Amino acid sequence: MLHPEHFHEVQHGARRLLFHAPTASLFDADPLVGAVLGLLRDGADPATLVTGLRDRFPQAELDAVVAELALLDASAPATPASLAQPAPAALVLALTSGCNLACSYCYKEDLTRPGAARRMTESRACEAVDLLMRVCGPAPLVTVTFFGGEPLLELPLIRRIVAYAEAAAARDGKQVAFALTTNAMLLDDAAIDFLDAHRFGITVSIDGPATLHDRHRRTAGGQGSYATVATNLGRLLQRKRSRPVGARVTLAAGCTDVAGIHAHLHDQLGFTEIGFAPVTAGTAAAFCLDDADLAAVFAGFHALGRRWRDAAIAGHDIGFANIANLVAALHKGAPRELPCGAGTRMLAADADGALHLCHRFVGSDGPTFGSTEQGIDAAAVRDFVARALFRAAAFCTGCIARPVCAGGCYHESYARHGDLFRPTDHYCELIREWVRFGIGVMADIKASNPGFLAINAQPRRAAT
Ligand code: SF4
Ligand code: SF4
Repeated sequence: MLHPEHFHEVQHGARRLLFHAPTASLFDADPLVGAVLGLLRDGADPATLVTGLRDRFPQAELDAVVAELALLDASAPATPASLAQPAPAALVLALTSGCNLACSYCYKEDLTRPGAARRMTESRACEAVDLLMRVCGPAPLVTVTFFGGEPLLELPLIRRIVAYAEAAAARDGKQVAFALTTNAMLLDDAAIDFLDAHRFGITVSIDGPATLHDRHRRTAGGQGSYATVATNLGRLLQRKRSRPVGARVTLAAGCTDVAGIHAHLHDQLGFTEIGFAPVTAGTAAAFCLDDADLAAVFAGFHALGRRWRDAAIAGHDIGFANIANLVAALHKGAPRELPCGAGTRMLAADADGALHLCHRFVGSDGPTFGSTEQGIDAAAVRDFVARALFRAAAFCTGCIARPVCAGGCYHESYARHGDLFRPTDHYCELIREWVRFGIGVMADIKASNPGFLAINAQPRRAAT
């Protein structure tokens, strides 16, 4: 059966593109396809629709287009079995609730100063690694991500966990990868060399030049952190060779200069990958972007996205992770059933061993899904997945953004509405515009430098 709501036409310059959301497929739409879809949307029956267009198009072509569209719709993937039987291959370890900064917009409800922190013990961390190895199934690669607070406050513990996880992975015939998000305040040469030797994927939280960064990212005493961060970064970007270092920018109220921030981080500091995370929900409501700020941020995303596209066509990557991730997802052509891997491919363990959907839920009063000691609460995960799938089916059917958004971030829904399953509907139209924009960018690159899309699809993007 043909579902016209699955097909979206995107006018991109002189080109008329057709995007099929369930398979994330992209085509040039000719007038015949446009006419067929137009009639279907108006409620025409596919069997009799040919009659209405017979005077404008040859019968054989009409039959062929209807058959092709129906075939495409029928090829939409069923819900993957992996969602019914989750086997997370990634675990976040929230090592400490302590942080050496006191950023004004921080969403962490359990954040403390380092001296008052809840800290994960080594035995708890090893228990978590054992759990990961047990539940990951046949996955050849598992990932351990260290989070805080500021995880580098626990560097001696990180060293011991890395040794333990590498031995466990070797025993089980798997690879283990490590990742960490840091404020960069404690990055000295010894720390950098250790992280480099173990091929850590590092994301640095930094908000741009000193005037912007120091607005929110301050010490408990109120001092800006930019000077220290910039010094340490110089060292990090010079010494770390194994994997690129990403920057994660938090865009809070009044801070919408996407182009200026990118220019500082990419051209002056030397980051190769920059991802932007707009604050739109959370406990620090005063720092959320309002509608005007959000519109300005997305206008900035579009402008920088056009620069990224032009560079890509010329064979360069200017490291704008938001558009790179969007285009990679569209190019992959495998639509998401769920917005992210929280609960299905990834869980986060807190200092007591409780398992949360992801790092953002650690310290919140959100639901938990078992523990490192007792194992994953499979029934709770199944119920969560069923409700998340229902949310996307009920709310997002027919939305052009569904293959990449699928209802949006659960934490954002929870922080804003106290409900994991309420879609992040406050900026759906901006997301749809962003996806339409990404489709146009992908079409341009496909037409002029298709080889770039394969390189861009590599999993190396800064967390956004
Ligand atoms: S933009 Fe809105 S309707 Fe569309 S998939 Fe995302 S949450 Fe659902
Ligand atoms: S999108 Fe939201 S729920 Fe999913 S992992 Fe990210 S913060 Fe967590």
